[in-house]
Amino acid sequence: MRILLIEDEARMLELLRKGLYEAGHAVMTAGDGETGLEIAKSYEFDAMVLDVGLPRSDGFAVTRALRACSRATPILMLTARDAEDDIIRGLELGADDYMTKPFSFAELVARLQSITRPCRAETATRIGAGDLAIDAVRHQATRSGMHIDLSRAEFALLTRLARNAGKCVSRQELMGSVWGRDRGVSPGALDVLVNSLRSKIDAPFPGKLIGTVRGSGYMLRSHAPVARGSQG
Ligand code: CA
Repeated sequence: MRILLIEDEARMLELLRKGLYEAGHAVMTAGDGETGLEIAKSYEFDAMVLDVGLPRSDGFAVTRALRACSRATPILMLTARDAEDDIIRGLELGADDYMTKPFSFAELVARLQSITRPCRAETATRIGAGDLAIDAVRHQATRSGMHIDLSRAEFALLTRLARNAGKCVSRQELMGSVWGRDRGVSPGALDVLVNSLRSKIDAPFPGKLIGTVRGSGYMLRSHAPVARGSQG
């Protein structure tokens, strides 16, 4: 894989660069946010490892700027321990996953593999629900024929819901599909992700597909209910 590593702590940067290089990856590095963003925009990468605390533009600003110019490169964020606000903010801005420092190198590699895998261990490649169509191989989603730009995490969530259209999928299962099992991801992160998915696949359309099953999880309706008047 081609990986961009943005981290200002020299020792950490060198450790990760060396480890990834030895694991057979092509690695480019940057020690500050601005330089990292320039590199990210200039070359194609399979994944980015992005520290949150960076000089000259932090990890949030880099994520925002990158997503604003429609770069969908999967982003693995590195945050300070237990900084839940940081985690939620990062995911909201379009990061695909995060790790809290300190972490093991093996875990970093596993996370990178998980965010770069286009679809997770399931078979059907085209999934439909109502006027929604998902192509799991091309990693594309359309609703009423309109292309919808989704982050990797949003796409994983939508795919899981669509494969079980008409049925409630538990919060635990959804979190497992997006971030992997036993990660101890904050439950708030799922709600943040659902909200951002809703803003893309439901907000622009009259019929709402994503339903909340209070206390259990979420479901994707097989058919959008008919909207009445200005009700949304
Ligand atoms: Ca840092």
